[in-house]
Amino acid sequence: MKKPKIVILGAGYGGLMTTVRLQKQVGVNEADIVLINKNDYHYETTWLHEASAGTLHHDRVRYDIRAVIDRSKVDFVQDTVVEIKKDEKKVILENGEVEYDYLVISLGGEPETFGIQGLKEYAFGITNVNSSRQLREHIEYQFATYNMEAEKNDNRLTIVVGGAGFTGIEFLGELTNRIPELCREYDIDPHKVKILCVEAAPTVLPGFDPELVKYAVSQLERKGVEFLIGTAIKECTPEGIFVAKGDAEPYEIKAETVVWAAGVRGNAIIEKSGFEAMRGRVKVTPELRVPGYEDVFVIGDSSLVINEEINRPYPPTAQISMQQGENVAANIARLVRNKQDLVPFEFDNKGTVCSLGEDDAIGVVFGKKLTGAKASFMKKVIDNRSLFMIGGIGLLLKKGKFNVF
Ligand code: FAD
Ligand code: NAD
Repeated sequence: MKKPKIVILGAGYGGLMTTVRLQKQVGVNEADIVLINKNDYHYETTWLHEASAGTLHHDRVRYDIRAVIDRSKVDFVQDTVVEIKKDEKKVILENGEVEYDYLVISLGGEPETFGIQGLKEYAFGITNVNSSRQLREHIEYQFATYNMEAEKNDNRLTIVVGGAGFTGIEFLGELTNRIPELCREYDIDPHKVKILCVEAAPTVLPGFDPELVKYAVSQLERKGVEFLIGTAIKECTPEGIFVAKGDAEPYEIKAETVVWAAGVRGNAIIEKSGFEAMRGRVKVTPELRVPGYEDVFVIGDSSLVINEEINRPYPPTAQISMQQGENVAANIARLVRNKQDLVPFEFDNKGTVCSLGEDDAIGVVFGKKLTGAKASFMKKVIDNRSLFMIGGIGLLLKKGKFNVF
């Protein structure tokens, strides 16, 4: 009998977790496993705010995919997915195509710009290694150029962060640690630097514990961040942004650096391939399959799973992506063995920790609130745990964060 072919798209948290579990659970004689990713490296998306601010080199946030997969069991293809032909059971790549019996789509998400004019063209994102490297370089260039000009352009030292969700806040935590270094390096008066965070909702980190939010705001304000709350970005231009509070007239804020960190949507491949989606995310069945396509699983930022307790989607996180990867691997292993009783996915929320720089954080872990050094320690434990789960002790020793005390 022909061996089934399992194709996994994307080697992020969800895709790599699926792969490393499948390579343990399925024998070489039982199925062929193919992993496709546009780069030959995996990057820790959850560390990109550090690479973007320049507090951690981008090589520290990535590692070679081949180092964590069993190459005798998994065929790794470095290529870019262009489209999924679900009715023909094949994936179109930039350099060819591949057929599948089971498909796992774990291509991550993309910045959600809500159609706001100019964001795609003029704002920076914290999305992948390339965008983080570009943002870090851009900020540094502004500082390096400031003293080169006879007529000083203070807008070079103004940085606007759009969105005070977890990404925006974590980036601000790193940025405020980096600014004093940049000021020293480029002979800039720190008082000239302006960091603004523009948030449309009435609070920073909407929905998170108010006491912890208060702590985060006061820590960041102490380090020079100015929050514009209840204020939405309406447009981005080469000179800065237009913002408005409620229905008031928009006004301009000039800034040479605008960072858009205001949420994600599913990968564009989802809609391009004709899957029914909400903001690019497929509302999957309890077994994480596409309704009507039993051979296609979607996990991670491109999937939408409803939290029945509040009847709202779970936020897209690395935590849920990895758990989905474990679930899908176990279920595909069952399907390969002709077992049809799949295990429905259940999210086990272990909590959330939001860093505020290298040595500070806020969080709720197993229901317990944490701030400061304890929360920061916990954040590093979480970061290290995900390395261990994917690449074992070898990867942990190579890439782990051990500056915990
Ligand atoms: P990803 O991990 O993003 O991986 C997608 C993979 O697909 C990548 O390797 C990409 O290169 C590849 N890919 C994309 N398109 C193509 C294509 N067309 N062809 C081939 N390959 C492709 N979540 C938490 O739980 N905890 C945190 O502390 C946390 N911190 C975060 C900090 C930041 C700065 C950001 C931006 C996010 C953070 N998140 C956190 C959210 C978390 O990172 C995402 O939810 C998670 O990365 C989603 O995992 P994924 O497997 O869906 O996709
Ligand atoms: P988010 O959706 O969590 O937050 C985006 C913020 O931008 C919201 O507060 C929203 O009100 C605001 N916003 C939207 N439109 C705006 C506008 N026009 N002007 C100003 N503000 C606007 O998105 P995120 O922070 O990018 O996070 C994406 C996902 O990644 C989330 O699920 C998040 O939980 C996860 N994440 C988790 C962590 C962590 O656990 N430490 C860190 C980063 C990201």
